[in-house]
Amino acid sequence: MKRVYNFSAGPSMLPEAVLRRAADEMLDYQGSGQSVMEMSHRSKVYEGIIGSAESLLREVMNIPDNYKVLFLQGGASSQFAMVPMNLMTKSGKADFVLTGQWATKAYKEAARYGEANVVASSKDQTFCYIPELDPATFTKDADYFHICMNNTIYGTRFTKLPETGDVPLVADISSCILSEPIDVSKFGVLYAGAQKNMGPAGLTVVIIREDLIGHAMDITPTMFNYQTHADNGSMFNTPPCYSIYISMLVLDWIKNTIGGLEEMKKLNEKKAGILYGYLDNSKMFRGTVVPKDRSLMNVPFVTDSDELNAKFVKEAEAAGFVNLKGHRSVGGMRASIYNAMPIEGVEKLVEFMKKFEEENA
Ligand SMILES: *Cc1c(COP(=O)(O)O)cnc(C)c1O
Repeated sequence: MKRVYNFSAGPSMLPEAVLRRAADEMLDYQGSGQSVMEMSHRSKVYEGIIGSAESLLREVMNIPDNYKVLFLQGGASSQFAMVPMNLMTKSGKADFVLTGQWATKAYKEAARYGEANVVASSKDQTFCYIPELDPATFTKDADYFHICMNNTIYGTRFTKLPETGDVPLVADISSCILSEPIDVSKFGVLYAGAQKNMGPAGLTVVIIREDLIGHAMDITPTMFNYQTHADNGSMFNTPPCYSIYISMLVLDWIKNTIGGLEEMKKLNEKKAGILYGYLDNSKMFRGTVVPKDRSLMNVPFVTDSDELNAKFVKEAEAAGFVNLKGHRSVGGMRASIYNAMPIEGVEKLVEFMKKFEEENA
């Protein structure tokens, strides 16, 4: 067996220890005589799994008691509609910061349901920075204020939250959930597709302050109403059982093997530091993001030549560093170095880049 270093933006690497444990438990989950994939979601044994997944997430993220945790489907993309259908119901207005494609999709979807305002955008420079925000330009009576915390495609992240006062802050944290501690109490809603940093595709996690539940538009489909899932413990219908189970194993790994999110953050800063440090000194490669806004998770970089970029991606793949091709809208390369990417993966990538730089200088 040979495993590669997978730099995919998502779905992405999972901790090897998690995959091994899942393999061990595949045919007979803890003496139940069944795989988790086969069991009734209403069984006692599965109740234990979804219950542990929630309590581990609450513990690891330090989620206050007045927040509900929902395990849903439909991806972060469904939240682009679900958030406005549930929240945009008082003034019917919401504010958006356009920091990339996902943020823009959230804005465009919300504009179908109410008055969506753009308070700032970094589109003028291919989203390579996070715009400065002036609270005087925010909509005072907005129902919510939306940001995309970590911009997966462009490799930027918010390091300072907008000061929205009483307006609930809503954040897409798909590509940074569990990468470092986050003060949940500063947000009205947090949502994330699991497949970047938490588990397999198919699960979407929503963390929502309780007072924001129960105000959905009349047209909201039952399945798109947060109340439906909050009232039924994410069991209104069949949840994504296996993805929740793997996420539980990932959370257990973060808590017990890594030692929590403070430790996770240190590891992620170390990994990102190795890669950015090299990019800042290389004569061939350079990062595309303004240094102060650099993501810890997604690192886009380029050379000055498309041919060289293509050659690099091809040779890297042959050497066991896969999925380094940049997003089609940015070109060049992107290394996604989520929680499960070991430090050796980044060290070896940098060694490989140095060698490539020497050989192609
Ligand atoms: C991947 C991603 C999405 C889309 O997620 P789906 O689960 O595929 O809908 C949305 N936002 C961000 C920030 C992402 O990284």
